[in-house]
Amino acid sequence: MDQSPIHNGAAPTAAVDLRRLTKVYAGRGRVEGKKALDAVTLAIPRGAFFGLLGPNGAGKSTLINILAGLVIKTSGEARVWDYSIDSHQRLARSAIGVVPQELNLDPFFTPRELLEVQAGLYGVPKAERRTDEILEAVGLADKAHAYARTLSGGMRRRLLVAKAMVHNPPVLVLDEPTAGVDIQLRQQLWSYVQDLNRRGTTVLLTTHYLEEAEALCDRIAIIDQGRLVADDETQALLRRLDSKVLTVVADRDLDAVPPALAAFDPELKAKRRLIFRMKPSQTSVGAILAGLQAAEVTVADLTTEDADLEDIFLKLTGGDHAVTPADQ
Ligand code: ADP
Repeated sequence: MDQSPIHNGAAPTAAVDLRRLTKVYAGRGRVEGKKALDAVTLAIPRGAFFGLLGPNGAGKSTLINILAGLVIKTSGEARVWDYSIDSHQRLARSAIGVVPQELNLDPFFTPRELLEVQAGLYGVPKAERRTDEILEAVGLADKAHAYARTLSGGMRRRLLVAKAMVHNPPVLVLDEPTAGVDIQLRQQLWSYVQDLNRRGTTVLLTTHYLEEAEALCDRIAIIDQGRLVADDETQALLRRLDSKVLTVVADRDLDAVPPALAAFDPELKAKRRLIFRMKPSQTSVGAILAGLQAAEVTVADLTTEDADLEDIFLKLTGGDHAVTPADQ
């Protein structure tokens, strides 16, 4: 059986390992071929909660579809759980569970039937099936016998996560899993996925919601036009921009930036608001506070703002394709 070597074998360091992975979609007629992935080399560590980000058309789905066996790569190598997708296609595929973007479900199956059929497809023996446990975990136990067509969008999404988990794959891929799912259900979905991750499942997530990626992922890769432009720990990536905005509200009107603060080059807004744009590696907040004291400015209020993933994303991808939930 495909399953046993995966779970009994030595666990690899990289759950997914890509070497110069390239995909060129063939052109048709006068339409030129499209290089969707350009020599992407990337290792997704075992146990990671990994975010794969990039603007529309960057190549994320192509990458995932190659891993899932739905798109044939042009060149390079890809291994899932140390199984090459070329020489050990079946094992590589059974090591991964993919939650697709589309909400396609056979409308005449109930969630329970759907999971049983899927388990059958993967050859999971009846005694090892965890159908009820999975339905419970995704909050669909009470819908076990409802027709899929009667399920809401959020429920269908969770059913797709359940479907991807029936063969207990060590790697779970979620492709834009929360598009169109309301906040509460998103949180429910995430708490389930985080729990899976804590218990050892490696999670690969693509999302448009940068805040979600920032909060969930311990490591993030960014691709743009088929090329890898970043691959780092989330916190290290955030530190990379090295920028912070410190806003100070003074307790009195200021006519100009006091000379003692000139070195920090703040912007004076509306007489009382001083905005310091600083590089934490070069200037400390303490130095600015000392400057304020020297200038005899009493601070009525103070806020700081760190760079967020969106800033990094825009910087690395050229900034001409902002990604917001409104893009969906
Ligand atoms: P993403 O998932 O990041 O939005 P995709 O992997 O879907 O990106 O697409 C990457 C590029 O490949 C895009 O330019 C897209 O138009 C192109 N592409 C995707 N699928 C096909 C296909 N079947 N045939 C031709 N070009 C495609």
